[in-house]
Amino acid sequence: MSLNEVGEFGFIDFIKSRALNLLPADVSGIGDDCAVIPVGLGRELLVTVDTLVCDRHFFKGSDPFLLGRKSLSVNISDIAAMAGKPLFCFLSIELENGMDGAYLEGFFDGFFDAAREYSVALLGGDTVSGDEFSISVTLIGENEKGTSVMRSGAEVGDDVYVTGRIGCSVAGLEAIKRDLKGVEELKMAHLNPIPRIYEAMRVKRYAKAMIDVSDGLVQDCEHICLSSGVGMEIYVERVPFCETGIVDKYTMLTGGEDYELVFCAGSEYKDRLEKMENITRIGKVIEGGGVRVIEKGKEIRLKKKGYTHF
Ligand code: ADP
Ligand code: MG
Repeated sequence: MSLNEVGEFGFIDFIKSRALNLLPADVSGIGDDCAVIPVGLGRELLVTVDTLVCDRHFFKGSDPFLLGRKSLSVNISDIAAMAGKPLFCFLSIELENGMDGAYLEGFFDGFFDAAREYSVALLGGDTVSGDEFSISVTLIGENEKGTSVMRSGAEVGDDVYVTGRIGCSVAGLEAIKRDLKGVEELKMAHLNPIPRIYEAMRVKRYAKAMIDVSDGLVQDCEHICLSSGVGMEIYVERVPFCETGIVDKYTMLTGGEDYELVFCAGSEYKDRLEKMENITRIGKVIEGGGVRVIEKGKEIRLKKKGYTHF
């Protein structure tokens, strides 16, 4: 197997095919934002893990407080994508030899700031030395049994919605790279994303399929399509883009790290959902497979759909 040939998602499919025969029948494993494990008493556990690596996910020396917050927030976003409640976490860190103590204290100030905000208790972890600073957080959440919103529930005829704005994070990243002044809010969208846990609660009873936008809006919509066996149309004119001239809307469609939620809901709820603050209808679930990005009534081709590691 060549990583460059199969890509990140082909590689995950390879792991999934090996893991499948050990999977208990009532457990949902690889392929969604969290694994879902029924535990009795009418509850199910949600488990997710995300890793941030220096020079790949954050710049060396970037604000430690915000990095601490983000390393937990991106995991909380995966629990939000299942419409669940975060509970407990484990923190595994690889430390560079001679790392500055004050920097690490700043990191933990930020980490526990987010932990307090979302009522998440740190229960354990692992500490090792290595060549680069990296952080891996495992987060456990829960839901009432059968109420987690999977990627696989979208049906033809559903409407597609997104929370918040799309593209602020990639614009903020560009602003950081170019050292632009006066755009602190955009930079914060990248450095301190807000997991949409409360929005998830508001739409939980309507959402049939949901995902958080980590790779890029179009690519994450593709994940819903693939899991649900449907196609999707996204109307560019309807997407609530971040208002900035730093990057264009095509970059924002695929930029990633928005940590907004995309969800699909039956058309009978259109009026109700469109009245909700911070929720925008952007598309439609159709027959077929994959996402068609429509601008001025015509399908447009994007150079890429989002971020992949290989
Ligand atoms: P997300 O962006 O929501 O964190 P990913 O794209 O990272 O999701 O992963 C997609 C799915 O593949 C998830 O269910 C995740 O648990 C699983 N996955 C990713 N990498 C691995 C791995 N190395 N081993 C097992 N499962 C993996
Ligand atoms: Mg996710």
